[in-house]
Amino acid sequence: MQTGQRLGTPLSPSATRVMLLGAGELGKEVIIALQRLGVEVIAVDRYPHAPGHQVAHRAHVIDMTDAAALYALVEQERPHLVVPEIEAIATDALAQIEADGLAEVIPTARATQLTMNREGIRRLAAETLGLPTSPYAFADSLDTLRAGIAQVGFPCVVKPVMSSSGKGQSVLKSDADIEPAWQHALAGGRVNHGRVIVEGFVTFDYEITLLTVRAREPVSGALHTAFCEPVGHLQVAGDYVESWQPQPMPPLALARSREIAQQITSALGGRGLFGVELFVRGDEVWFSEVSPRPHDTGLVTLCSQRFSEFELHARAILGLPVDTTLLAPGASAVIYGGRDEVGIAFEGIAQALAVPQADLRLFGKPESFVRRRMGVALATGATTTEARERARQAAAAVQPVSGQPA
Ligand code: AMP
Repeated sequence: MQTGQRLGTPLSPSATRVMLLGAGELGKEVIIALQRLGVEVIAVDRYPHAPGHQVAHRAHVIDMTDAAALYALVEQERPHLVVPEIEAIATDALAQIEADGLAEVIPTARATQLTMNREGIRRLAAETLGLPTSPYAFADSLDTLRAGIAQVGFPCVVKPVMSSSGKGQSVLKSDADIEPAWQHALAGGRVNHGRVIVEGFVTFDYEITLLTVRAREPVSGALHTAFCEPVGHLQVAGDYVESWQPQPMPPLALARSREIAQQITSALGGRGLFGVELFVRGDEVWFSEVSPRPHDTGLVTLCSQRFSEFELHARAILGLPVDTTLLAPGASAVIYGGRDEVGIAFEGIAQALAVPQADLRLFGKPESFVRRRMGVALATGATTTEARERARQAAAAVQPVSGQPA
């Protein structure tokens, strides 16, 4: 596709077609951004009426870990770009799609392969690029885990190599924690049961997501790297509950963060927005992880930046220029389902929106769980402290209630 040169008319032979693999709340916002540019969007998820399905031209429900089904759908829809929004995808099918020239994979099939497994990305970061990370070891059994922990030391964190944020993860303080951590990791891993990473625990002052965009220069067409202001966030049980932007940082720590982000995203290649997760203590910075796609903590950019991370991703993947300007200090606070029920309702919306400079996103997920993220409150303020207070207040005003008629 001649990205950056022209965009067509959706649902016509000139259409620019983009397929989102994963149509959750992050995919939904990318789709809306693409729709605004007149792109034809195909949304794929594992269940019907996923948030992104509701705003796309066409929706498909398939098991995206099924390589044959994924390849067949791309053959059927013939998108110009395939944009993974989640990790649990048959990445070998993405590699085949790329190799066969069927579609362009964002950012690259190799990047999706390396980042879906903690081992691939950790070895690239620490061993190939020499970036600072926590000490680490890999293990396949209780015995090799004990040996790895002997190397790394306590306290440490054990995580399945294939798991998303927080799942199957434990913090260990002594020998007594090893066996329960192993069992927890076995239960929480996605696939490839039984391989874990053990990482030394980093006592950071704060953690950030450095949203980093690889996009084309408008005049030369060359790829360049642009950075958003750092996003600070608070994690509870491995899940983000609040984020804010900008996170104030000493100049040296910010320069080091950008250098790390530049190196890891260049090594992954392609175009698009990446969420580079870093731990910071004083002037020291450790690389933790990277998502080759918009990051949940970056939801804050829906209110804080001229163009949100989703709009930046849409522009970058289409080969268009980006603008990472911060407009105002902002914050996001997660709204959980609070109940297990299909088709819930929300009350207190007016109170939430009466909070100064507050906004809401309700994702429209068909089924709620107690700890499922169903929405997010956003707010700007004169400072991030004020923005955080407003976002928390707005989130607290929203009450998930039964959707059944009373
Ligand atoms: P992850 O699934 O790797 O993104 O980890 C989820 C969260 O756990 C991170 O955002 C950190 O708050 C915490 N965490 C993960 N690894 C470490 C580590 N090595 N040291 C300290 N905290 C960690």
